[in-house]
Amino acid sequence: MGENFPLESQVTEGKTILVVPANSIKTKIPPRAPAFYNSLASLSRDISVIFCRAHTHMISREPTMLDTFAGVGARGVRVANEVPRMNTVELNDVNSVALDFASRSASANGVSMRCIFTNQEARSLLVSHCRRDKQYDFVDIDPFGTPAFYIDCAVGAVVNGGFLSLTATDTPVLCGLYPRVALRRYGGLPLRTGYCHELGLRLLVSAVARACMQHDLGLRCLFVHNTRHYMRVYLQILKGSIDSDRTLEQIGYLNHCPDCLYREVSTEVTSRCECGTNKIQRAGPLWVGAIYNEMTLRSMLEEASGNSRKAVLTLLQRALGELNLPIGYYLPDQMADHLELPSPPPRRVIEELEKRGFKAARSALNPMGIKTNADPRTFSQMIKDYASEMKISGDRSDRRDKIHY
Ligand SMILES: [Zn+2]
Repeated sequence: MGENFPLESQVTEGKTILVVPANSIKTKIPPRAPAFYNSLASLSRDISVIFCRAHTHMISREPTMLDTFAGVGARGVRVANEVPRMNTVELNDVNSVALDFASRSASANGVSMRCIFTNQEARSLLVSHCRRDKQYDFVDIDPFGTPAFYIDCAVGAVVNGGFLSLTATDTPVLCGLYPRVALRRYGGLPLRTGYCHELGLRLLVSAVARACMQHDLGLRCLFVHNTRHYMRVYLQILKGSIDSDRTLEQIGYLNHCPDCLYREVSTEVTSRCECGTNKIQRAGPLWVGAIYNEMTLRSMLEEASGNSRKAVLTLLQRALGELNLPIGYYLPDQMADHLELPSPPPRRVIEELEKRGFKAARSALNPMGIKTNADPRTFSQMIKDYASEMKISGDRSDRRDKIHY
């Protein structure tokens, strides 16, 4: 540092002061030089803090965390400052200018003693921590683009029962826009469907599961979330062949009909759907087990309530609401467009499905998505019934519903 240190600004995220490059908060797309800071990703860091707060008590020793791609330290310094039980956070980045910002942020919050700064290539650092006495309790992987290059090294750097969180920003790949790239990076095929974000997250989890199984490790998926720009997963790594075998049981395929939207987890390869089409598409291999852990969600909600923004609470509550519902969700507005009919608002969809004896909930992964155990035929019939009802009631209909949509 010195006279040539880049212009800096101070921002507050959560309860933490962050010293960031001045140019990163003046432009819509923050530049990578001199160091990258994206204020739009603060929700992801809020969730990291809540996740760590909810899980540090599960660690029997003094918990440690590695923020592998720390950048200016937004995540790592926040965890050091806002998670009282976290003993040490190691902030690593290849960009030494970014680490200077991180160090200044740590000082601004009085947590320098709990932070270690390292300036290493990510994979070398992870591999050097695969020895049992050097492993971390929490490892975070948040690179530019795909995390695929780091997965194998990362699973080895997590202690038995510890936690691994990963961010992927190659969402077009995970959502099925480039299936060959997805197959290379993640070992499975995604699908371009209305519920592609859930399938993309499941593909990401399965890539980590595969790396775990190669090392006789098991994996439990505790929490996932996504925005337009990134997908993020929180996993627990478990040592031993029994957990590894259980992990293998959670890997499967999904058959999807693009015509009637029928979907099911299946080991059978088929092209024919009951609706008569022979265009069945197949996604996978991907994670077909649970993507949320109830205890994790409840602990995170407890940590979040009272001092978190509404978006975080909504996300956690919706995740809780969709526990035990099948893979995939429906998008009523898209289905109604396809049928050239008006779309019922989400709350109405849920009421109608419940009236017909099905379970239904808002998806945490898509604000317009509805998770349900109803089949697509019931779902489309419900939209048709709604349209008939609207036609009959005419101008006397609920105007709020119409305006909403
Ligand atoms: Zn079909």
